[in-house]
Amino acid sequence: MMWTLLRTVLRARRRGLLRLVPAEGPVRLDCLADRCAKCCRLLGSPIVTPEEAQRLTGEVLRRTDRAIFIQSHRGCCCLLRDGLCSVYEVRPQGCREYPWYNLDGVLYYDAGCPGMLRDRDGRPTADEIGPFERFFPGVHPVVIRLIRWLCTRRTGGDRHEARRQPDKA
Ligand code: SF4
Ligand code: SF4
Repeated sequence: MMWTLLRTVLRARRRGLLRLVPAEGPVRLDCLADRCAKCCRLLGSPIVTPEEAQRLTGEVLRRTDRAIFIQSHRGCCCLLRDGLCSVYEVRPQGCREYPWYNLDGVLYYDAGCPGMLRDRDGRPTADEIGPFERFFPGVHPVVIRLIRWLCTRRTGGDRHEARRQPDKA
């Protein structure tokens, strides 16, 4: 479990995702949907609550002692079809919240998401977003700290910025 998790995080980082930066100033998501789908292809098995699991049909779930996940292969969610979520209306909360994250009550976003724009403010508040730790049920706190460090680490080549674009509204 731990190695699968770390491999998924490192693979996503290599492909440009999980570049978490504090959401300071106007920033919003304009999702590119099936022209992108990077989050569904790279971020691994979304965690689901028992209530969310009841709304998902078919053999798509993996259950462990501590949590329920949607199955994925090499980080790609099995519910992705032609670049779109096949259960969009009932997708898990974590999928609804992406690319926003709550790290100790501070709002972050994934600057690797190509849909992030800085033309106007569409940020949620941090308390509308579930805590980062809930993605890792049963994982040792030291490993979660390592993942958090990896996801917030800035490297020389990073373009950790949402795009600026004239406001079309
Ligand atoms: S990575 Fe961002 S732009 Fe791409 S599909 Fe996911 S949320 Fe949309
Ligand atoms: S459940 Fe839908 S939105 Fe969530 S990762 Fe899978 S395909 Fe993407």
